[in-house]
Amino acid sequence: MSVNITDPMFHNEEAALAHCEASRWNGEPSCPYCGSLRVTRLKQAGYLFCNDCRDKFTVRTGSVMERSHVPLHKWLLAFHLLAASKKGMSAKQIAVYPRCSL
Ligand SMILES: [Zn+2]
Repeated sequence: MSVNITDPMFHNEEAALAHCEASRWNGEPSCPYCGSLRVTRLKQAGYLFCNDCRDKFTVRTGSVMERSHVPLHKWLLAFHLLAASKKGMSAKQIAVYPRCSL
């Protein structure tokens, strides 16, 4: 599977969120704290509420992106550049890439 760098998930926050949720949960969100499938989507974009442990979470919870203020689409672009580069890529190289200054 090839990934096109012009894909909206690399430039649009909502598309990035949809992609991450589909990758992580495959349409059935589960609580990262207790594993419950009884979750409710909140009005705030990307937030879900666990009806069992009564905690809020997002697709970022439990990942390296959890406490970051960097938009999700920039994280996805950085991950793609890191994975697609044959010799890897430094943070400075990623920072000079257009639209990907973290
Ligand atoms: Zn829970």
